[in-house]
Amino acid sequence: MKTILTMLILLTSVIAGADSRVHGHTHPFQRELLGHTHPFQRELLENPITLKCGAVIREWRGSPINKEKVEKLCTFTKVRFFPFMKSKGFNVNESVPFTYSLSFIPNSSQYRDLNDSEYRFSGRSTRFKISGYTLNDVRYAFNLSNTYNHQFNVSLVHELFHALSFHYDVNGPDDEILAEEFTMKYMGLK
Ligand SMILES: [Zn+2]
Repeated sequence: MKTILTMLILLTSVIAGADSRVHGHTHPFQRELLGHTHPFQRELLENPITLKCGAVIREWRGSPINKEKVEKLCTFTKVRFFPFMKSKGFNVNESVPFTYSLSFIPNSSQYRDLNDSEYRFSGRSTRFKISGYTLNDVRYAFNLSNTYNHQFNVSLVHELFHALSFHYDVNGPDDEILAEEFTMKYMGLK
C-alpha cells in the first residue's frame, strides 16, 4: 500500500512537472518553472547572511557579495522609514522586529535572473527592465547583484522601503508614490 502511495505521489509530481514546463527547450540544470520566484535550493547561499536591520540575504549570484554595503543601506532605510511614514500619517509599530528575505541576482533576462519575465517572474505585470522587485507573497525583495552598477543603492533602498511597508502593514495603494518620494528624498533618485 505504501509503495502504491509513493508511486502515486511520484506520478503526480511528474504530471505537475510536465504542466509547468513550457515549450520545447530544456534547461541544463532543471526544467524551466513558471513563476517560481523564490530561490531554488541550489540558488540559496549555503549560509544565509542576517543583517542588523533584520533582513536576511539568501541568494547572491553573478557578482561578489558585499555584505557591508547592504548592511549600511538596510539600516539607513529602516532608520528613516519610521519617521517618514509617521509624517505621512501612518501608525507604525516600531517594536515589531523587521524580517524579510533578500535576493541579489543579475539584472539580465536570462533564466532565473531579475528580468526573466518569461519564467521566474512571469507573474510580474511590468514588462520593462527593472533593477529591483519586491514580492510580498514570498516575502522577498530582489535586487540587481552588481554593486558597481549605479542603480544598486537607489534600487535597494526603494525595494527595502516596500519590504518595510509590507512588513509593518502600512502598504497602501500609494506605496509606489511614497517609495519614489522616499528614495528621491534620501538618495536623490527614485
Ligand atoms: Zn517600487
